[in-house]
Amino acid sequence: PAVISIEQVNKRYQSSTIALENVNLQIHNREFISFVGPSGCGKSTLLRMIAGLGEPTNGNISVLGTTPEIARQKNGEVAFVFQESTLLPWRSVYQNVILPLELSGVSKKVQKEEGYRVLELVGLKDHVKALPNQLSGGMRMRVSIARALIAKPKLLLMDEPFGALDEITRQNLQNELLNIWEKEELTVLFVTHNVFESVFISNRIAIMTPRPGKISALIDVDLPYP
Ligand code: ADP
Ligand code: ADP
Repeated sequence: PAVISIEQVNKRYQSSTIALENVNLQIHNREFISFVGPSGCGKSTLLRMIAGLGEPTNGNISVLGTTPEIARQKNGEVAFVFQESTLLPWRSVYQNVILPLELSGVSKKVQKEEGYRVLELVGLKDHVKALPNQLSGGMRMRVSIARALIAKPKLLLMDEPFGALDEITRQNLQNELLNIWEKEELTVLFVTHNVFESVFISNRIAIMTPRPGKISALIDVDLPYP
C-alpha cells in the first residue's frame, strides 16, 4: 500500500489564490521523490499539508495509513527539514540533535546512543560541542538532518534543504543524503526548484507548474547510485 496517498486535492488560500488544483499522487515505501518547479507552483503548500501543517480545501491526503495531523503527532514517524536553520543557537550540536528525544522523555543513556549514532551518520562526531554559529551552512544542515533522523522516522520531508548552499557543499550533501536514505530505509520527499538536483537525487520526479499549481508530469528515474 501507499505510504502517502493524495486524492483530488485542491488548495485555495483566503487570498483566493489557487495554490493547488486536482493533485493526485501515490507515494510508496522507500521512494525518494522530488517535487520540482518554479516558485509559486505549490511545492511548499503540498509538502506542508503532507506534514499536517494546513489542510486541503477539497480532497484527501493520507499519511502512513492515517491523517497527516495524526501521523505528525505519532512520535517521530514524520520528520521535516527546512532550508532555514531551525537550530537553537544557545545549544551545542549535540544538544540540538538530542532535543527531540529529550522532549519525549527518553533516558539520557538512549539520548547519547542515538545522538552519537546520527552524528556519525552525518559526519559530525568531531563537532559535538560546537555552537551552530561556529559552523558552516553545510554543517548546520547536517545537524538539522541528524536531529530529524534521531527518532528513526519513516518519512523525511525536505523543503529546499540545500538551496542556500554552494555547489560543492550541495553535491556532497546530495550524496550523503542518498546514503542515509539507503541505510535508514526512509521514504524521502524532497522539494527543490533545481531540475539538476532532482535528477541526481531522486528515483521519481514530480514536475509542477504554477497558475494554478499542479503536477504536470511524473518521471521515473533509474537512479544509478548509491
Ligand atoms: P518558497 O518558494 O520557498 O515556498 P515562498 O516565498 O513561496 O517561498 O513562501 C515562504 C512562506 O511564506 C511560506 O510559509 C508560505 O506559506 C508563505 N507565503 C507565500 N506566499 C504567501 C502569500 N501570498 N501570503 C501569505 N503567505 C505566503
Ligand atoms: P512554492 O513552494 O512552489 O514556491 P507555495 O506553495 O509557497 O509554492 O505557493 C503556492 C501559491 O500559494 C503561491 O501563489 C503563493 O503565493 C500562495 N501561498 C502560499 N502560502 C500562502 C499563504 N499562507 N497565504 C496565501 N497564499 C499563499
